[in-house]
Amino acid sequence: MHVKATSMFYRCPHCQAKATTRHSSQASPILRELIYQCTDVECGHTFVVYAAAVRTLSPSAKPDPLVYLPISEHTRRVVTEQPAITQPGGGPGVRLAPKVKEAGRAVPL
Ligand SMILES: [Zn+2]
Repeated sequence: MHVKATSMFYRCPHCQAKATTRHSSQASPILRELIYQCTDVECGHTFVVYAAAVRTLSPSAKPDPLVYLPISEHTRRVVTEQPAITQPGGGPGVRLAPKVKEAGRAVPL
């Protein structure tokens, strides 16, 4: 699969002008190295950016045993909370009566 390196927007860390990709290479299955160049000619900064895969949102159907990307906290929470949502009696429509505040003091008539 080829991903356009130019689709990743980056700003120059020194002058904040838009930087463009000059070169990119796959350093490892989870790490890509990109060389960026600042578009401000008076700055001219050229620098290296790493783009890394850091966590899994949806597991791969073709997992590489050498690649370990931890499941995202958000995904883990959704998976562990799912059985509680489908349990009988806990579905929508079950509402608790609102708590009635007791009168703080008696009002004389
Ligand atoms: Zn710059």
